[in-house]
Amino acid sequence: MKYDIIIVGCGFAGSTLARKFANANKKVLIYEKRNHIGGNMYEEILENGVRVHKYGPHIFHTNNKIVFDFLKKYSDWYFYEHKVLGKINDNLVPIPFNFKSIELLYNQEKAEKIKKKLQEKYPNVKKVSILDLINDSDPTIKKLGEFVYKNVFENYTAKQWNIPISEIDKSVINRVPVILGYDDRYFQDKYQYMPKDGYTKVFENLLNHKNITLELEHNALEDIKIKDNKIYLDNKEYKGIVIYTGEIDELFEYKYGALPYRSLNLVFENYDMNYYQSRAVINYPNEELFTRITEFKYLTNQIIDKKTTILKEYPKTYDYKDKNNLPYYAIINEENLKKYNQYKDLVSKIPNLYLCGRLAEYKYYNMDAVIERALNLYLEIMK
Ligand code: FAD
Ligand code: UDP
Repeated sequence: MKYDIIIVGCGFAGSTLARKFANANKKVLIYEKRNHIGGNMYEEILENGVRVHKYGPHIFHTNNKIVFDFLKKYSDWYFYEHKVLGKINDNLVPIPFNFKSIELLYNQEKAEKIKKKLQEKYPNVKKVSILDLINDSDPTIKKLGEFVYKNVFENYTAKQWNIPISEIDKSVINRVPVILGYDDRYFQDKYQYMPKDGYTKVFENLLNHKNITLELEHNALEDIKIKDNKIYLDNKEYKGIVIYTGEIDELFEYKYGALPYRSLNLVFENYDMNYYQSRAVINYPNEELFTRITEFKYLTNQIIDKKTTILKEYPKTYDYKDKNNLPYYAIINEENLKKYNQYKDLVSKIPNLYLCGRLAEYKYYNMDAVIERALNLYLEIMK
């Protein structure tokens, strides 16, 4: 056998695993159906010189030192703390909602009263869930919670997920807390960095190994088929290891139906000006049809005179039959997880098939969680 491991997909899941196995002297083949490496982390440089994240803004943040130490081998990283504003009633206020947001939206006397109540109720607590605030027994805190819920979360969530906020898995809205203080960072993790030369370079470095062969624009499912709990490669049984990071329902030809996702219509706009807005990201929870605007120069640290590029994200339904439509966000709910588990049961019967990544595992993974999962899967397989 020419290769010890076949990996389907060249995002962070596939590329991390490929490098770990290559370092351990295993021969790895990666199939990637797109015409580039990096999966959704891919960046490209536009004519105006701005480096954009082709599939939406990506900021690295983690509390996992092992993950960051792994990434540091493949790039230099610069310290970057992400800051976001949200447009609420024509004011731009910090998101996550914090004490400064309260001061910007209430008169001084009211703001002082709310902050005092919060400090009394939650002494030495840095952040709380919006769901805790709306259920608080103190009427002032509850009222604040209801205001933030309505103005920050409710419409944004309905737009993003196309379902009422009451139906969304709590873990999704709890990604964005309410901060009990003046910390105005979007993420509260210990390590917050961006790659010095961009994510695409990180992937080039990860994949630059004599034991890794990469085939771009190659849909693995043209060659790989599953039959009678066995993997077939070009119609012959394949006994080596396959790690699959693509959509799990596609692997089994949608036998139990398609798993639902939210997709995005990403609209890039170029401007002849130094900066379009005052922060890397501004969220638009309410009136607009898009959810947020990202200005890439803040993320990439580029200094380019009188040129800038922004991105507006318009959420939309995902349709797997439309090849121009990408599955961005797994929609986590009981019904969808039940369907996912049916597919997972099929995988458990195939000893040389492993799943890794946001599509194969149908999870709302951040990149650090995907890398952590890939590093653990590598150890599991090596055992
Ligand atoms: P992917 O990057 O999707 O890679 C899977 C690859 O498999 C793709 O390249 C695909 O083309 C390929 N593939 C699939 N099927 C086949 C096949 N049959 N044959 C060959 N190739 C195939 N995380 C953060 O930590 N910070 C952020 O700021 C952040 N922002 C995000 C913003 C948006 C809009 C979205 C949607 C996600 C964001 N994430 C962020 C999450 C992050 O993108 C993911 O955690 C990460 O990219 C997942 O990597 P992956 O390898 O699992 O998947
Ligand atoms: N959210 C919101 N208002 C905001 C920001 C986030 O309601 O201003 C909710 C929304 O449901 C969103 C979720 O919190 O889908 C997670 O937000 P995050 O910014 O983590 O989303 P991502 O960057 O993954 O798209």
